[in-house]
Amino acid sequence: MSSPRNERRFSVRSLAHPASVRYYSTVDDRAIYLKQMELGPMENFVYLIGDPVARECVVVDPAWEIDTIVETVAADGMTLKGALVTHTHQDHVGGSLAEWGMPGRIPGVEELLGKVATKVYVHKAEREFLRGFGSDLVKVDNHDTLDVGRLTLTFMHTPGHTPGSQCFLVDGRLISGDTLFIGACGRTDLPGSDPSEMYYSLTQRLAALPDETVLFPGHNYGGDSSTIGREKRENPFMRYASLGDFLRTMGGGRIITP
Ligand SMILES: [Zn+2]
Repeated sequence: MSSPRNERRFSVRSLAHPASVRYYSTVDDRAIYLKQMELGPMENFVYLIGDPVARECVVVDPAWEIDTIVETVAADGMTLKGALVTHTHQDHVGGSLAEWGMPGRIPGVEELLGKVATKVYVHKAEREFLRGFGSDLVKVDNHDTLDVGRLTLTFMHTPGHTPGSQCFLVDGRLISGDTLFIGACGRTDLPGSDPSEMYYSLTQRLAALPDETVLFPGHNYGGDSSTIGREKRENPFMRYASLGDFLRTMGGGRIITP
């Protein structure tokens, strides 16, 4: 869940929002296969990332239109080797919306596993929020890696929006979930959020990446991609000089040392 604006839009827009797919790098590119699909009424970006030679890929945050995801993987001649979860909010993994005071449920990981046998990778701090997947679920931690064909993907723990929020770094690209958006960052006023952790995730962990790292966010709030360098220059949430200044803007939170 990302902003009140989008939650309101969610309540009035159809679930049959047409998918929009961007092809950053296709199976014709021998280096990396990367597809960005904008699915559902909350402008979520779902990603397919893989090795076009080994024909293996993972999906990031499978939700909203599981058939679109599964059919896209098949149409590209790829095999799905895993589902990676940036965090366990329902617009990223599916599930009932009752805890948000909304009716219905969003299709997600459960529906995916009903169609494809695959592992689900979630940060250990949010393991408890994904129930019922048994041995399909793999707990990961900061700096863990996953090989996808010839590619090696690294998990970066970036708490703040949620306790187990994580980003995925692969071949100079960062899939950032709801931690870093283009020109903004994820909400820190939700249950489980921590604005102090968000400050350190943005200004210490993500800001330490090379400027040329290409950023692929979890929602289409300010465009489809950016770079860490551009966000460090232009994104006000990466530019606070102190935790105190950040907290005065984001509100609340406890003071911690990194
Ligand atoms: Zn979220």
